[in-house]
Amino acid sequence: MHGLMMNHPLTLAQILEHAHRIHGNKRVTTLLPDQTLHSYNYTALYERVKRLANVITQVGIVQPGDRVATYASNTYQHLELYYAIPCLGAVLHPLNIRLSAAQLAHITHEAEDKVIFVDGAFAEQFEALRNEIACEQVTYFNQMSTDADPSYEQLLSEADPAYAWDIPDENWAMGLCYTSGTQGEPRGVLYTHRSMFLHTLAVNQADVFGLTEADVVLPLVPMFHAMAWGLPYASMFAGADIVLPGAKPACIADLIAETGVTVAAGVPTVWAEAYPELRKRRQDISSLRRLIVGGEAMPPTLIEAYEKKLGIEICHAWGMTEMSPTGTFSKLRREHQALPDAEKWLIKAKQGRPIPGVKLRLAAEKSDEFTELPWDGKTAGELHVQSPWTARAYYRSEPTDEHFTADGWLRTGDIATIDAHGYMQIVDRAKALIRSGGESISSVALETALLKHPYVTEAAVIGVPSEKWSERPLAVIALTPVGAVSNRADADISDTLKQHLSVEFPKFWIPDRFVFVDEIPKTGVGKSDKHTLRKRLLSAETKEKLP
Ligand code: ADP
Repeated sequence: MHGLMMNHPLTLAQILEHAHRIHGNKRVTTLLPDQTLHSYNYTALYERVKRLANVITQVGIVQPGDRVATYASNTYQHLELYYAIPCLGAVLHPLNIRLSAAQLAHITHEAEDKVIFVDGAFAEQFEALRNEIACEQVTYFNQMSTDADPSYEQLLSEADPAYAWDIPDENWAMGLCYTSGTQGEPRGVLYTHRSMFLHTLAVNQADVFGLTEADVVLPLVPMFHAMAWGLPYASMFAGADIVLPGAKPACIADLIAETGVTVAAGVPTVWAEAYPELRKRRQDISSLRRLIVGGEAMPPTLIEAYEKKLGIEICHAWGMTEMSPTGTFSKLRREHQALPDAEKWLIKAKQGRPIPGVKLRLAAEKSDEFTELPWDGKTAGELHVQSPWTARAYYRSEPTDEHFTADGWLRTGDIATIDAHGYMQIVDRAKALIRSGGESISSVALETALLKHPYVTEAAVIGVPSEKWSERPLAVIALTPVGAVSNRADADISDTLKQHLSVEFPKFWIPDRFVFVDEIPKTGVGKSDKHTLRKRLLSAETKEKLP
């Protein structure tokens, strides 16, 4: 027997309407390229979103379900597009502005974007790629009007201010995001209104992002990376102020101090870079209470520095573009509060417990079947997930055994352990795990240990082919100023680091070689780009015989 409750569709229009009606005076502040601040309230945003929906509809080429792309950083116009496109029944497709022409060509051809909204700040960069990109129309914003081309502002001011949202049903597609491509070609993930609405409710719980109307939220994660981790929707549903940092703030500490940010989110690289600046400005950033960090493992040393030296709570989150993206969230439980600090950082460095609504499974594959592994904090296995906000297929491709199991789980491609309390810890990405002499070596564990050494500011461990062992670990290191001025030869520093690792790891885990670089290359979303690193190292060394 079915129940008798209203079947009210779960759509983003509900989030927008609620934000406007209940929190109309809350503010959206954007750091402009000239480092001044632009600010307006939710009511102004709401009115502009309605006009924008008319502008997009009147182009005449966007039908329900068509993809409308953006090529922009984190700005108020991008936020307007984040609502207008899905609420008129089209599909929001944020393009990563750091991708190459070839990658964008592949993605836009597959997505068949009808219109692309381009931030004028990237006009030159976009025009250089324009011929490669498939789309029927390009509309710039942040640009002056010309006779032939009315500006975004002019289009909005001339548009009808009334618009009736037109979302066929809650399972209608609302957004298309491509994975960041760390492990190969980017794959498209097509979210629904329902999945994004449920993800918004899930992350807004007290033990997850825990945003309230008193917060001022700074998404440093780009709006083209996994829907800015859902923050544009979660913040507005909670009624929090939003601070949008543009492409790259000249000084994160200034922005936090000026706008009173309470919660900020970004990948570990951003926080590693910002740390010295924030440490200098401890007094004026006292509003900042929490950082949400994910996309890559947050090293325990960095967690400790933020918590102990700056008094800022670090919440480590794990997720995937395929999961809208949040899967797990790491917060201490009541009984952890009494633990010594060092033990607390270790728990916080784990990727955390599944947020309500997400199911995890640790599995081992044997003759095409999966057996479940124990949650004992030691046994490592393939991590599988299920949730109402997890993809069941990729855009424009049939689900394959490589990514989806016959019994309905997404294979994350991560290798993890889970302890008895449900804390999951990533051991490595399956593809990054180094197989040496039939045994596995975790690149993540070696990197974490290397980062504890005062000489090391960045570390990436990759597997390189070896005739004898199949693969051997090689460590790529960027030195701290202390390491760089130690005036020691590379060979000496390598020996010191080997020694440092040998305290924690068996002999066969210790990298045979160390390579020193100024900086580890990063992907378009700021993760260590091991793919490029491996290619560079291997091509430089083709003549040299690897161990
Ligand atoms: P890509 O797989 O192309 O990098 P995503 O940006 O969606 O695209 O990345 C998802 C992956 O990022 C996860 O499968 C996991 O390997 C990694 N990841 C995300 N968050 C964390 C974290 N907190 N710690 C370690 N790895 C993480």
